[in-house]
Amino acid sequence: MVAKFLAYNELDSWLAKMAEQYRTIVPRREGDAVLFGPYCESASVELRVRPTQSPKNAVFPQCEALLTYKYNKNPEEPGRVEVEVNEHLDGTPTVVVGGRPCDAAGFNVIDRVYDTDRVRDLNYLTRREATLFISMTCAKPATTCFCNWVGGGPASPSGSDVLMTPIADGYVFEAVTERGEGLIKADLIDASDAQVEDARAVKEAAEAAMGDPVDPSAAREKLLEHFDDVEFWEAEAGKCISCGTCTYLCPTCYCFNISDEKFGHEGVRLRTWDYCMSSLFTQEASGHNPRPTKAHRLKNRVGHKFSYYPSLHDGNIACCGCGRCIKSCPASVDIRAVVLNAIAAPAPQPES
Ligand code: SF4
Ligand code: SF4
Repeated sequence: MVAKFLAYNELDSWLAKMAEQYRTIVPRREGDAVLFGPYCESASVELRVRPTQSPKNAVFPQCEALLTYKYNKNPEEPGRVEVEVNEHLDGTPTVVVGGRPCDAAGFNVIDRVYDTDRVRDLNYLTRREATLFISMTCAKPATTCFCNWVGGGPASPSGSDVLMTPIADGYVFEAVTERGEGLIKADLIDASDAQVEDARAVKEAAEAAMGDPVDPSAAREKLLEHFDDVEFWEAEAGKCISCGTCTYLCPTCYCFNISDEKFGHEGVRLRTWDYCMSSLFTQEASGHNPRPTKAHRLKNRVGHKFSYYPSLHDGNIACCGCGRCIKSCPASVDIRAVVLNAIAAPAPQPES
């Protein structure tokens, strides 16, 4: 596959050129946070640190109009109303530059749910098809990173179209897919053998820095074993303040809510992210809530990612190990510790 090179001081002009052809989404410094948004000349592009947020928004927006509708009276037959529905499918050609390999792998988790024989979520899939990912090798993984526990790695190409790796004087771009090759072929110069070798060394060092992976697959059975273990879940969820940060920052959470905003005879149907750490997530119209405590909700979040989802999807875990939920949790709840504690905990004894 093709390998190209871009000097650090040419990054802005390259992004500006890309933005002429594609909606170009980049990590931008906004105060203390690094958030993904469209590239523009005044954006403070930040590729040196891990973004606070994942680029999930680019394909699965936090809020989107699924369709608009209008009630039209039939002039011939005023008692009869016809509903006009217009789908909103957004196939704007898009490139996400500077997400991490874990972020790209996160979309693989969502694909298994929204692109199946039974369900094809066209709003999601239209954007997905139109979006290319140029992911950045995590040259210095953080202590919260655990992508290698779940089949990923700081230089894993899975889910990306191009992998870019920082070396001494610029980035080496390596095409992963044919579409990725097409994206970098024209505007970048060929990388030299020495530059490709430097990139390889950066990737190897990053992989070594991750340390040995832990295999969390035993959690699939163990989390079920502890399903009714109230004591275990109350201890694990004790610190949680139900803020929802973990779910909102997660690249693999895909739950949503639907609401209609109606104005007179027309309206818009909106999809917005929902989050299972909220007490309202499962509240029923009767007022009954099957997950009334934060212990129930944490059990669901961890159980879904490490047990129920893998059971439905050939053992694949619904977590890409990005560590954002660990880094940004105000109460320091660590999903790795919850999983390992579930694996290590003795089986609950049946009541006598
Ligand atoms: S970020 Fe932490 S405190 Fe907030 S809901 Fe998640 S686990 Fe609870
Ligand atoms: S559960 Fe946490 S570590 Fe796993 S993908 Fe979501 S935010 Fe990242």
